[in-house]
Amino acid sequence: TAIIDVDHLSKTYDSGTKALDDVSLTIEEGEIIALLGPNGAGKTTLISTICGLVVPTGGTVRVGGHDIRTDWRAARKMIGLVPQEIAIELFETVMNTVRFTRGLYGQRPDDAYLEQVLRSLTLWDKRDSLIKELSGGMKRRVLIAKALAHRPRVLFLDEPTAGVDVALRREMWQVVRRLRQEGVTIILTTHYLEEAEEMADRIGVINHGQLLLVKPKAELMGEFGKKR
Ligand code: ADP
Ligand code: ADP
Repeated sequence: TAIIDVDHLSKTYDSGTKALDDVSLTIEEGEIIALLGPNGAGKTTLISTICGLVVPTGGTVRVGGHDIRTDWRAARKMIGLVPQEIAIELFETVMNTVRFTRGLYGQRPDDAYLEQVLRSLTLWDKRDSLIKELSGGMKRRVLIAKALAHRPRVLFLDEPTAGVDVALRREMWQVVRRLRQEGVTIILTTHYLEEAEEMADRIGVINHGQLLLVKPKAELMGEFGKKR
């Protein structure tokens, strides 16, 4: 059964911009889907609407069967979001940062689970380091750990490699692949075909607020005439 069910979703901002135009999409548990499209296509709006941060002007979103508008609390527990623009406390340790996030969700920290998360993000050895001492790649991984701290079943990554160098981009690809082994459903946005291809099982192409197509990666790459 689908963990995410987006049905005829539309969003027109107060400014008049039609950012989402009748988008329907279902995502199965455990899959990784990349939303590929140029700047301004509507990717961030789609993610934000699915997460309940932007109110749609039409259509519905269900997360784990919970309507994001009428059953927001239940839906939100299942979602972890790493937004594009990020704020992080620099003078705190990695472990405290992640433990505090769990507190925000009203849960007692589950240290065994947090250890598992930090290990899978290769941050365990850095758990007592201050955030400000970490490299850019490690800071990004702390943000992912924060988003995973309350054990969401779905993780959203908005442009996880925007503005990072090639080495860091590859590191992020590895992180995503490792998370998939943990069974987390992942929805990410990118404007690089190469990146969608590296990380995702399925690729959705979005432009001018419309989801033009959603296909398994292999099928889509075949259509682009690539030999892999
Ligand atoms: P909502 O319809 O969800 O309440 P709004 O349309 O009121 O959202 O958006 C709030 C304001 O944010 C807008 O008036 C707009 O000027 C501004 N804004 C934020 N991001 C953008 C963007 N990418 N493009 C244009 N305006 C933006
Ligand atoms: P992407 O993530 O693919 O770059 P966005 O979802 O950020 O696309 O933006 C889609 C369209 O909606 C763009 O035209 C953008 O300027 C506009 N937009 C985004 N956020 C707002 C906002 N808060 N208010 C008004 N317009 C917005």
